[in-house]
Amino acid sequence: MHDYDLLVVGSANADLVIGVDRRPGAGETVLGSDLVVHPGGKGANQAVAAARLGARTALLARVGDDGHGRLLLDSQRTAGVDTVGVLVGGAPTGVALITVDPSGDNSIVVSPGANARLTPEDVRASVRLLAAARVVSLQLEIPLETVAEVVRTAHAGFGGRPGPRVVLNPSPPAPLPADVLAACDPLVVNEHEARFLLSDDPAGSSGDPEKWAKALLARGPRSVVVTLGGEGALVADRDRTVPVPSVAVAAVDTTGAGDAFTGALAWRLGVGDDLQAAVRFAVRVGAAAVTRPGAQASFPNAEQVAALPR
Ligand code: ADP
Repeated sequence: MHDYDLLVVGSANADLVIGVDRRPGAGETVLGSDLVVHPGGKGANQAVAAARLGARTALLARVGDDGHGRLLLDSQRTAGVDTVGVLVGGAPTGVALITVDPSGDNSIVVSPGANARLTPEDVRASVRLLAAARVVSLQLEIPLETVAEVVRTAHAGFGGRPGPRVVLNPSPPAPLPADVLAACDPLVVNEHEARFLLSDDPAGSSGDPEKWAKALLARGPRSVVVTLGGEGALVADRDRTVPVPSVAVAAVDTTGAGDAFTGALAWRLGVGDDLQAAVRFAVRVGAAAVTRPGAQASFPNAEQVAALPR
């Protein structure tokens, strides 16, 4: 009945990266390194992370009818993602213009492009993908009304049959409608996103991830996962809050670690793991991803995850 363990609904961007000695001021030009172009965007990253691990994955997204769009489609297909839900046209492919200085700090300008044109109507036209998935994973690099349409459709189910379980990473962070929050199982946040969502709550400034998890749960989601970089993650539901330590690795580049984590987590939930088991697996995937440079290029396959120390 389910063709997909996981449907990711989200963004697909071309990341255009140039190394610079220093950033230009207003009206100034500086010379940089050769341009490097990577496939990226949180939706595309999560789908690749899951498919590389062996998940039956589909992506619902929008790219432009241009070279960057073709790069994204190619990278999804190479990883094994079903791209039947990737819509083409309407605006240029989303782009992140990234300059990296010698200290490794990034400055980024994002042009959402086609991502901003993924509409609730597009979701309705692709509803069969939602009906065919065990889990749907969302982020906030597409319009919030589109995210809300996915969540409401999943929540309503299909003629008495339950819709997919909803995993949401609110990134970049934005206020969420109550019914969207209530459907999340889990809401997945890093420290920055937790603090943003709790900016009007004393728990947010407490510096205590357990307090964040409890305060976020009080907003309605069925469960909460707080990712804590090298410290691993915290899993919270109504009954308890459990820390899940990460694996000690030599971190080289943490770009995309959160996307690898969430893609892996959503997949494991789709194949029937309970939330704690899924998080135990996902922290290993996140740890593997930080041992290699890049985002999608750093995502591990199942053998590489298994080879990490216990
Ligand atoms: P984000 O990338 O969204 O900021 P985190 O930094 O919390 O999210 O990382 C997500 C996950 O990636 C963590 O829960 C952990 O599993 C893994 N991870 C990140 N940084 C490290 C690290 N230095 N060592 C081991 N695992 C890491």
